[in-house]
Amino acid sequence: MTSSDTVHGAAGTPMLDVAGLRKVYQGEGRAVEAVRDLTFALADGELACLVGPSGCGKTTLLKCIAGLLRPTSGTVRLAGRGVTSPPPDMAVVFQEYGRSLFPWLTVHANVELPLKEKGLPKERRAELVTGALEAVGLADFAGSHPWQLSGGMQQRVAIARAIAYEPRVLLMDEPFAAVDAQTRADLEDLIRSLWKRFGMTVLFVTHDIDEAVYLGQRVLVLSSSPTVVQDDITVDLPDERDQLTTRSLPRFAELRTRVYAEIQSAKRGPAVAGTAGE
Ligand code: ADP
Ligand code: MG
Repeated sequence: MTSSDTVHGAAGTPMLDVAGLRKVYQGEGRAVEAVRDLTFALADGELACLVGPSGCGKTTLLKCIAGLLRPTSGTVRLAGRGVTSPPPDMAVVFQEYGRSLFPWLTVHANVELPLKEKGLPKERRAELVTGALEAVGLADFAGSHPWQLSGGMQQRVAIARAIAYEPRVLLMDEPFAAVDAQTRADLEDLIRSLWKRFGMTVLFVTHDIDEAVYLGQRVLVLSSSPTVVQDDITVDLPDERDQLTTRSLPRFAELRTRVYAEIQSAKRGPAVAGTAGE
């Protein structure tokens, strides 16, 4: 199976379908419109990256998709079904992974916990935990506690926990923002290899333009508030990617320039009719 075969699902129903999503937070006497109107769809098995200026509503969008937050209007559909509470076949990796791991549980127990909640039998849980820890290169650390590990390793535990859960959709919210450059490159390659191996649909939020182009089959660019999808760029780079070769391709440079230009214009807000004032 090549990834291009999966871009448009045979059944025609997108795996993830976001339509007219709007979210207004009601504060004390003040309403904040975090997201104006977002519409996009991901086919089964697609890996899309989402970039946009800080505060434009990326986390709000992911929370709505994950069923953790109710949109003010619009819909989120997962394999054709409306999302109103956290769907069982979705996993989320948040930016603050340190806080998402339980310090009093071992690495193994942290990864196992959602599988218990899912009601899986003990043997199956052990199999999935072992497989996921092997996949992220942490097989030898199953008995360690999170605080005994480096930041990059803790993030790999969070990724293992998501993978072990066998989600059909994986949402990631700026997951590598706090790790060093080398670890980040390793984790990027890990995400692509896990995506290829398990074939889940991935929506990856990042600030980093190069990361978005390197990882994604598509890059969705959000505007600043009021937030809409400013552009949807197909990343037509070879499917086999590696940090040195891919990043030095002329096409890679063209794509990052295009995303950069879109973000710059996104910061100025969505295009409006009439003359732009100074
Ligand atoms: P991003 O992840 O793109 O940085 P967020 O989704 O975190 O953006 O926030 C989008 C906007 O919504 C920001 O203006 C933020 O201040 C506001 N916001 C986020 N969460 C809340 C909340 N719980 N209550 C009120 N306003 C919020
Ligand atoms: Mg955010």
